[in-house]
Parts: sequence; structure tokens; C-alpha cells
Amino acid sequence: MEENQEKNILNKVAIVTGGSKGIGASIVKKLSQNGYSVILNYNTSKIEAEKIALTNKNIHLFKADVSNYFEVQSLVNYAITNFGKIDLLVNNAGIDLIKTINDTSIEDFDNILKTNLYSAFYTSKEVSKYMINQKFGSIINISSIWGLIGASCEMAYSVSKAGLDAMTKSLAKELGPSNIRINSIAPGIIDTDMNKFLNEEEKKSIISEIPLEKIGNVSDISECVLFLANSSYITGQIIQVNGGWNI
Ligand code: NAP
Repeated sequence: MEENQEKNILNKVAIVTGGSKGIGASIVKKLSQNGYSVILNYNTSKIEAEKIALTNKNIHLFKADVSNYFEVQSLVNYAITNFGKIDLLVNNAGIDLIKTINDTSIEDFDNILKTNLYSAFYTSKEVSKYMINQKFGSIINISSIWGLIGASCEMAYSVSKAGLDAMTKSLAKELGPSNIRINSIAPGIIDTDMNKFLNEEEKKSIISEIPLEKIGNVSDISECVLFLANSSYITGQIIQVNGGWNI
């Protein structure tokens, strides 16, 4: 019995969207070091993705634009064909947009919603079919502090992340009876390319608002992903990882 349980742990399968950079890359590495076969989804950063795959033989690459439903179907088919199941889906892929509402075009708004929110609908729709059949699964959505409190000049981004949190709560209720847990992690500010436009003055000003007086690391998020993946009684929650920025 113990042997079987261990085998199951070692044979877990995860899909991580946007795993080529930043937070996603850290999640991919963390899961691959903790008994998961990981399908690293990337879109444009092929070279970065290939470098990450070199760190662990349990990392497998799949290129897909997750804002496109047909490409998401191919991603999920790849996982099922090659691994037979999906235990964990991490919806991490995301883009930011800093514009006033007047400067935000219809195309901008569509693009943000498709990349950050529709993508999670597409992946969850495809993956949940298999999770329902296997009566087990976990979905983790990487949302944002801005989905909870709103950000000036980031309305489209904030809307997309609030939508993700609503998806988390709704699917937790709908899929809980099938033993599928859905949670969000809402980061504050994490040191990645997404924030590389900030100058030192701007960073200092943000840090002055954070009780822990620092910007977070990608590992702060990947450790939380592993914790949620390993838990069995947490669902429908928005876990804030932000150094106390939103107390
Ligand atoms: P990042 O370094 O800019 O990385 C973004 C990742 O998303 C890349 O791997 C990129 O893949 C992928 N991606 C973007 N569009 C995609 C698409 N259409 N299809 C597939 N993959 C796509 O950003 P990050 O900071 O790590 O952010 C990761 C997540 O955390 C995002 O959802 C972000 O909103 C959220 N978050 C970040 C912060 C922060 O402070 N950094 C705070 C709150 C929330 P390619 O490069 O291969 O295209």
C-alpha cells in the first residue's frame, strides 16, 4: 500500500502555462523537483523554455498560445496522450497592460482578457473533463493583488484577475463533489520581467507600502503552489502572497 502511494506521488502530472519565464519557470522547477512530470507550456520564449527543460528530465515542452482554444486543446491532448492523466493545472500565463481607460483600445481589452482569463477557461474546460473522470485534481490560478483591490491605469488587467478569482470560487463549488480543488494565488509584487519597467525610485515607493519591506521572489509563489498542490482540504481560496501589502 505504502509502495503504491509513493508510486502515485512520483507519477503525478502537471501542466504549467507560461512556464518559460519568471514565476512560471520557478513553478515548473519546483514541481519537477517534487515528483511531478511537468508539461512546460511556452508561447514565444523557446530558448528560455529549452534551458529550463535541461534542469530536469521530468520537464517536457509544449508550445501553445493559451489565448487560442484550439492550441489549448492540443496542449491538453499532448498531456493525456503522453502521460494518461493530469493531476495539477497551474494557470500562470499572463500579460500586463498599463494604460488609462481612454488609451485602452477594444483590441487591448480583448487581448488582456483572452490571454489572462479566457485562457484559464479554455484550460480548465479541457482538463476538468479528465479530472472529473479520475475523481481527482487540483487547479491553481495565478491572479493578482489588483484583482482584489483594483489598480489605477491597469483596469483591463485588474478585471482579468478578478475574473480569475471568480472562476476559482465558482469552479470550487461546481467541481468539489468530483474531488477537484481550485484555488487562486494572488501575488503582490514579484521580481520578474513583468516589473522591469519600474525604476529604483518607483520600486522604493512600492516597498515603503509593504509591511515586510521587500519585493517578493518567484520562489515565494512556487512554494505556495507546491503547498496548495499537496493539500487536500483547501478549495475556493484566494491566497495572498504579498508581504502584507493588502492588510
Ligand atoms: P513574465 O516574467 O512576463 O512571464 C509571463 C509568462 O507568461 C511567460 O512565460 C510567457 O510565455 C507567458 N505567456 C504570456 N502570454 C502567453 C500566451 N498567450 N500563451 C502562453 N504563454 C503566455 O511574468 P510573471 O511576472 O512571471 O507573471 C506570471 C503570472 O503572475 C502572470 O499571470 C502575472 O499576471 C502574475 N502576477 C505577476 C506579478 C508580478 O509582480 N510579477 C504580480 C501579480 C501577478 P512566453 O514568453 O513563452 O510567450
